[in-house]
Amino acid sequence: MGVEYSFEKAALNAQKTMALLMDRKIKQVPQNFTIWFEYLSDTNPQIKEAVNRLLAEKGKFNDEVAKEIYNEFFSSEKETKQIRETNRLVQQSMETLLREIRASSTGLSNYEETLEDFAGKADGASVLDLQEMVRGVIAETRQMSEQSHSLNENLQKASEEIEILKRKLEVVENENLTDPLTGIANRKKFDVVLDELSARCKSTGEKMCLVLSDIDFFKKFNDEHGHLFGDQVLKLVAKTLHTGVDEKGIAARYGGEEFGIILPETNLQMAARLADTLRQSVSAKKLVKRNTGTNVGKITMSFGVAQYDPTENIETFVSRADRALYKAKEAGRNQVKIDVPVMAEAV
Ligand code: GH3
Ligand code: MG
Ligand code: MG
Repeated sequence: MGVEYSFEKAALNAQKTMALLMDRKIKQVPQNFTIWFEYLSDTNPQIKEAVNRLLAEKGKFNDEVAKEIYNEFFSSEKETKQIRETNRLVQQSMETLLREIRASSTGLSNYEETLEDFAGKADGASVLDLQEMVRGVIAETRQMSEQSHSLNENLQKASEEIEILKRKLEVVENENLTDPLTGIANRKKFDVVLDELSARCKSTGEKMCLVLSDIDFFKKFNDEHGHLFGDQVLKLVAKTLHTGVDEKGIAARYGGEEFGIILPETNLQMAARLADTLRQSVSAKKLVKRNTGTNVGKITMSFGVAQYDPTENIETFVSRADRALYKAKEAGRNQVKIDVPVMAEAV
């Protein structure tokens, strides 16, 4: 996206989308236009896949299919102003498009009539009559080309508007997946990634690990230093985990003072090692109150690690990591525990 975006391509796609909707007798509403525009522009293979899959399942593209696709890819829990605004934009561009297409097809049939008229009368017509007729054809042709020019312009404008809509949806989607306090991924993003990766592990057999971590005695910390300072510490912890995980996976705020780290292509041993590095980084931070300069010591975290077993469901996987975290707490906190799968224990 972005740099390689071409208005010509998008305009052509918008045109193709309209043709496809008409051809397949799909309702010409913004929702369907958005779905098929995406489908044809080939920028989002997941949408294409989902549409193809549902088409194969249901036999045809109906309201039910449209709703499912739209909810999965375009809708957002938050009915924000942005979404309403972008919907209005698409609605507008759709209306312009339809008006233009109708106007141009009326224009086209007028033009065809003129041409037929010309062909019919040309035989045996006087030179003067012919000249008159040619003038008529030239005028019609000019009008047609003007109309098709304005159709192109409007198609282009509509595609630009659709592109704006897409960017706005991306922004909204991003906001929905980010934790506002710490700026890292939120629980929803965590769930989405875990879902996607578990499916990938099932098909490719790659290893994946989950680390759940929780700040030790954070309630006491809040009580002693105030909730606002507690919030600052949460931000620092999030940043430390996010930086420490880097490209190796994704760190998300799982709940209040709990963080979840998903590590694709990582085995249990590697994950436990990374968790311990993170544990040390957090406990190495010296906490100083900015306003008074008072040193308030440090905080520690406990970690639980589990490796995904492709035969288990996500809930079991998460609860195993949670069980390991609980063990780390029980064993005295500020440490990493792993959940040893039953199979491995037996070996
Ligand atoms: P443990 O070592 O067993 O985890 O002890 P704990 O005190 O951390 O555990 P507990 O679950 O009892 O308390 C969690 C605390 O985290 C309670 C709450 O005050 C604090 N907390 C949760 N979310 C936030 C937040 O957004 N900001 C701040 N400042 N504190 C939060
Ligand atoms: Mg907790
Ligand atoms: Mg805690």
